[in-house]
Amino acid sequence: MAKISETEWIWRDGAFIKWQDANVHLLSHSMQFGSAVFEGIRAYETPKGPAVFRLQDHLRRMMHSCKIYRMDPPWTIDQLVEATREVVRRNQMKECYIRPMVLRGYGAAGMVPFDSPIETFIPCWPWGAYLGDKALEQGVDACVTSWHRVAPNTIPAAAKIAGNYLSGQLVKMEALRNGYDEAIALGPEGMLSEGSGQNVFVVDGGVLYTPPLDGTLLPGITRSTVLAMAKDLGIPVIVGALSRESLYTSDEVFVCGTASEVTPVRSVDRLPVGNGTVGPVTRALQQRYLGIVRGKVEDTHGWLTHC
Ligand code: PMP
Repeated sequence: MAKISETEWIWRDGAFIKWQDANVHLLSHSMQFGSAVFEGIRAYETPKGPAVFRLQDHLRRMMHSCKIYRMDPPWTIDQLVEATREVVRRNQMKECYIRPMVLRGYGAAGMVPFDSPIETFIPCWPWGAYLGDKALEQGVDACVTSWHRVAPNTIPAAAKIAGNYLSGQLVKMEALRNGYDEAIALGPEGMLSEGSGQNVFVVDGGVLYTPPLDGTLLPGITRSTVLAMAKDLGIPVIVGALSRESLYTSDEVFVCGTASEVTPVRSVDRLPVGNGTVGPVTRALQQRYLGIVRGKVEDTHGWLTHC
């Protein structure tokens, strides 16, 4: 498990404050009611210095999360892009994880949030492979969790907001307690949805499959990166509903996310995926991903923002 390793500076609403001064009140609305929109972004070391991967796309998603919850931070995406670049520079990070947050602060007594101010923070800190280097190399052992994801039109799954992560916590804790590295959840209809903090793909007969954006999962930036890379590599893709058992019968399974990058799954519910080793499509996509983020494979989509 990864503890946060502190850096020095955090951007807060237009100014830089010290890490230890980035406090909110106990009774902030977001503490009481989970109303903290956030993003998880990575900056990687490249031959031209640190570069943030798909920064604008992450910030666009953050603004969409805010809009869903009627939050209106007084910052443009361009301003937040500059703030993010500056926070990486100021903290002298070569590589880091960046966690912009827009939260409802102290004021409102009850659930109705409008008397709480909107506060925006951008911290960053060093964070290596989320599931470990060995996971990237050899794959993880996953299970299908007993917890379903939220149903559409309950809590919006497309909003990346703190309260949604109660579901992910239950999913991940169950997986770890049962001796697995990660878990994949079904949606309310019993079809594949997503991992605790990743989207899921399977490969069968050379075709790449992933569940649709059906209101039960986060529209991952890495998911969209994988879909674009598959197109670039000429890998056929089908976006459509997938059954639980497709995890058992497919040639390859992998999960992907900003923190997890492209992580092979080598077993599901103790059944080996394929022959239990990392398959060629997963490896090709993983290598291309890690090549692009580190500036070693040409960034033809304009995904890198140098700091
Ligand atoms: N699903 C969930 C629930 C997540 O928390 C994440 C990580 N943000 C993802 C999918 C993957 O999203 P992304 O590729 O944008 O990091």
